[in-house]
Amino acid sequence: MEKMINYGIDLGTTNSAIAKFVKGEVEVFKNPLETGRETLPSVVYYKKDKVVVGTNARTYFERDGKNVFGSFKRKMGTTESFKVKSINQSKTPVELSAEILKELKGFVHSGETIEAAVITIPASFDVIQSNATKEAGYLAGFKQVILLQEPIAASLAYANKRKEKELENGQWLVYDLGGGTFDVALIKIKDGEMKVLDHEGDNYLGGADFDNLIVEKIVVPYLNKNFQFSDLENELKSASGKLNNVYYRLLKVAEDAKLSLSNRTSSEIEVRDISDDNDEEIDISIDITRSEFEGLIKESIDKTIDMIKKILVRNSLKSSDIQFTLMVGGSTFIPYVRKRVEELLQIPINCNIDPTTAIAIGAAYYAGTKEKIFEGDIKKKNISGLKVRLAYQKTTKEDEELLAVRIDGNIDGLFYQITRDDKGYDTGRKPLINRISEDLPLLKDSYNFFRLTILDSQNNVIETDSELIGIAQGKFNVAGQPLAHDICLERDSEPEMESKITKLELLFQKNTLLRRKSLNPMF
Ligand code: ADP
Ligand code: MG
Repeated sequence: MEKMINYGIDLGTTNSAIAKFVKGEVEVFKNPLETGRETLPSVVYYKKDKVVVGTNARTYFERDGKNVFGSFKRKMGTTESFKVKSINQSKTPVELSAEILKELKGFVHSGETIEAAVITIPASFDVIQSNATKEAGYLAGFKQVILLQEPIAASLAYANKRKEKELENGQWLVYDLGGGTFDVALIKIKDGEMKVLDHEGDNYLGGADFDNLIVEKIVVPYLNKNFQFSDLENELKSASGKLNNVYYRLLKVAEDAKLSLSNRTSSEIEVRDISDDNDEEIDISIDITRSEFEGLIKESIDKTIDMIKKILVRNSLKSSDIQFTLMVGGSTFIPYVRKRVEELLQIPINCNIDPTTAIAIGAAYYAGTKEKIFEGDIKKKNISGLKVRLAYQKTTKEDEELLAVRIDGNIDGLFYQITRDDKGYDTGRKPLINRISEDLPLLKDSYNFFRLTILDSQNNVIETDSELIGIAQGKFNVAGQPLAHDICLERDSEPEMESKITKLELLFQKNTLLRRKSLNPMF
């Protein structure tokens, strides 16, 4: 069994993805049901007798909207639940998220059981929301779940492809505009450790709003002008409206038009299979230009930039103090978003990572440095009875790293050999002793893997519980989880009780790093 967690999951509001760290490289798994797609729509549909997840579930928004659920990540950590008519039950955001995680496991075709994963969360998640995410992981069958903040994951995806020098003591922004949410974070690397210094966001600003704006500001006025409707907007939007089903279809064609406007300067929105109040059949195509679309979303994009300015002010930073703005999330494919963010902030934008898979990729890099620790994993087949204990630093900036080994058991007549996987280093056969210490030379800016092999006098390999030794050179560590909000203590002391005053005493300020040795809920 592999020693490291290796699997990273982006559990997104709109789309999710799973990736795996394999010897220094990350593989993003393909969606088996949709050729060429690496993400899974975070949508769950409850049919009477089965659960449908992903793209297929999404198609039911129009046909059976009351039993389809999306965007439930926004409700993580709340007590809200979703009524499912078809099965006459309620489902919590945690249960719905677990369905997404289970479906993602199905992307991995190797047949291995995935027992542990790094799952990403927004920088704004508080302890309750974080714990809800962990719970979803356990419900999906993981024995170990490690959480990682999304902007850190995105930064790791970028930083692990760079030379360490370029980013040393660096400072940048991660601009994540997804389907339903916007998050921006200020990231800093200090002494090889990466952390979120500050963050802002809006849980109700994203690509879905842009689709909605197209329907509201272009499609509805066009239909009102050219056909006879008494209360079109209400019929579309209200759950009991007779055109409510059509609304989902319109949102889908609006999204298609939006996607093509990222590559073209004009597009069409097809509206058909509906009739107006006079029963006139509608089968039309409405033109939309890129600049019309830009006009629609301008206000939203400017809002995101205002949030960034707040971060800069709060941290007494000028634009020139920031190296770049790392663009993440599907909506950053929109050329206008890239242009506007760069223009207004006067900070270069960085589009060097794939905005839809970067977070899963970064999570997998992190998972490649995190050991699996859960019961049942420790008992290994160990025929020789030799116990091998290894101690070494898993991430380092040094050129070589000390490996200390303790061997318990009968070592008479045995030998050991340590080799680096690229064959660039080999100790040769040495007589086995109880305490070994070796300086392992490391390849720069890469993941180094070593093997300790124990041999008998005939050069036969002796089975032990020794594991693959993985050391990341020039890669970045991740600091503890900063608090998303201030934590205060409510104090009702006697005289204040009389005057009915409750005082809030600040215990920990927002963005403080909480570190606890082993009980830290994050690590
Ligand atoms: P989330 O982080 O919310 O799970 P994603 O980062 O996957 O979501 O972003 C999904 C959003 O990105 C959707 O609203 C989708 O329409 C939008 N999107 C994806 N590709 C493009 C594109 N090429 N142009 C414009 N918008 C896009
Ligand atoms: Mg996302």
